[in-house]
Amino acid sequence: MISSWRSLKKYTILAIAIALIVFIWRIVPPTRSQSLAAFPPPKVHPLPESLANYVDRSRRDNYLTEIDKTPLGYLVWSQFPIKIFIDKPLQLGNSAADRRYQAWIDAVEQAVSEWNVYLPLKEISDREMADIIILRSQPKREVKLNPKTGLFDIPRAVTAETTYKFYLQKNPGTVAHKMTIEISPNYLGVSLLATARHELGHALGIWGHSKDRGDALYFSQVGNPTGISSRDVNTLIEIYQQPTRLGWRI
Ligand SMILES: [Zn+2]
Repeated sequence: MISSWRSLKKYTILAIAIALIVFIWRIVPPTRSQSLAAFPPPKVHPLPESLANYVDRSRRDNYLTEIDKTPLGYLVWSQFPIKIFIDKPLQLGNSAADRRYQAWIDAVEQAVSEWNVYLPLKEISDREMADIIILRSQPKREVKLNPKTGLFDIPRAVTAETTYKFYLQKNPGTVAHKMTIEISPNYLGVSLLATARHELGHALGIWGHSKDRGDALYFSQVGNPTGISSRDVNTLIEIYQQPTRLGWRI
């Protein structure tokens, strides 16, 4: 008796599971796969004036060779100003926690104003409309199965992270990108500013790291960080002269 009841129960669960899968499949239509040929061919956008006007008094040294290209090309912005949303509460008081939050906002805004010399940036309050979203949060440590090794990759703890995603933009119809920067609330002082500057450099298109300690995009944190170097700007200029499929009409 018990065994046949169990098998009945098993079949019922199986039937419900199948019905659920069919139901979910019906409400979420399958995505359409497109080959890269469906996207605009990679082309070079006009160099923004602020970069074209940059005169490097030192050598025209850069680290373009360290910069990664995405499947859609270099992560170049072509609509200016680039719209930035900074995660802030409506009001901040005078508590220790609020003062720490204010210091976080000040450092992020300082980093935005430093990069604004080279690319036009504008802070906006509508998160949905932003090209770059800067959040005061601890990046999650995602445990992922590595399909190549069959092992789980457990990332080391990070205190800041920049990620990108592509989406279809209407009017004009283009493939666009959006950047999200997460910076931990635990950062303070100079290292907070250096981190905001570094991550914003990634979000503006420097998708790689420098091997030179004097650059904002140096791969590791340094004790006495300096500002944006001429090598950082020269690299940005090189990147903005590379082809991309982003920002062109479909
Ligand atoms: Zn980095």
